[in-house]
Amino acid sequence: MNKEIVLATGNKHKVEEYRKMLAPLGYVIYSTKDLNIDVDPEETGNTYKENAYIKAKSLRKLVKWPVIADDSGIEIEALDNFPGIHSSRFAESFGNDYKKTAEAVLEKLKDKTNRKASFHCCICLLEEENSKPLYFEGICPGEILEEIKGTNGFGYDPIFHSYENNLDFGTCSSEEKNEVSHRKKAIVKLATYLSI
Ligand code: IMP
Repeated sequence: MNKEIVLATGNKHKVEEYRKMLAPLGYVIYSTKDLNIDVDPEETGNTYKENAYIKAKSLRKLVKWPVIADDSGIEIEALDNFPGIHSSRFAESFGNDYKKTAEAVLEKLKDKTNRKASFHCCICLLEEENSKPLYFEGICPGEILEEIKGTNGFGYDPIFHSYENNLDFGTCSSEEKNEVSHRKKAIVKLATYLSI
């Protein structure tokens, strides 16, 4: 496969994570920002997979290289897996203010004893515009804290406790988070595929 890949995001955190894993395999990763591309299709899918494909497909039309797109979110068991694929839209409804978003989640959970939650990520790799998409998924299990703790990470991190390393994402380092994160697990699967 071509060793140049375009990532369907301008998000610095995401780009760094992908580069860290894929550069040692000889891959050059461009972000949409690097290429001055503004692509923001409506995420009309019902699953992370469908939304990742929508993002990959709309970007693949615009570039000459294979593309990677991901979609992610947090699922809260006691809220019937809300916000799930609506995670970014729910945060946007609070102006992407992590504190207001976190407070809204805590309010919804105030009478609930089950605080189990999990982060999900699905990566779509699309080599050609009409080629078969390939998917790589990762899940990070944990629970929603009783209160906001720390300011590290982004999005829902300040209210998330990870079961796998027994750490709160709002206070642990990015290295500690990446040992167990949903995105990292999906990227490892992608990297394994690309290194074969
Ligand atoms: P998207 O995958 O860029 O569409 O965004 C999904 C949304 O889910 C983000 O805007 C965050 O609100 C949330 N999210 C996804 N991954 C994480 C994470 O690792 N930590 C905290 N929030 C996350």
